[in-house]
Amino acid sequence: MADFADCPRCNKLESTLHAIRDCPWVLLVWHGVPKSQIPSTFFCDNLQDWCCSNLFCSDQVLGLAEWSLVFGITIDAIWRNRNQWIFDNLRISPHHLCPKILARCRCIVKAMRQENTTFVRIFHPNSPLIRWFPREEGWVKINLDGAYSVSANLASCGRVVRDHLGAFLFAYAN
Ligand SMILES: [Zn+2]
Repeated sequence: MADFADCPRCNKLESTLHAIRDCPWVLLVWHGVPKSQIPSTFFCDNLQDWCCSNLFCSDQVLGLAEWSLVFGITIDAIWRNRNQWIFDNLRISPHHLCPKILARCRCIVKAMRQENTTFVRIFHPNSPLIRWFPREEGWVKINLDGAYSVSANLASCGRVVRDHLGAFLFAYAN
């Protein structure tokens, strides 16, 4: 998270959807990753519908991978790039990010083939359910994430602590 509300790329107010889909800079990334035809609703759906419809999409992209994989990797690359822009002052063009996304997709697909594994489509209704299950009473569940800026030599992390049933207990960051 940054300590300002504006998008670092275009200076407009930054919502989640703006950061990963609607920013003019991000639009160039989405139009640069291969998909036979981005549906007309791609830039209209709300966040939940947009994520679900794309994570359910099993269309093959250039014989490379399912669109759901490319979609997830693209979002991750856009978010990482946004954070590098803010915290490391590292700026690359969307046209340079797209080949990196494709290279990462190829690496993942190659690794899965070498390991003779299959891509687990977590969100597909016919796939086995992979999820967190409630633990025994007395246990807590902790989700955490962190970031480190090389240029500023600053690190930050946050944690969310939930009880054995997944109910929120408390959160903290430093
Ligand atoms: Zn923007």
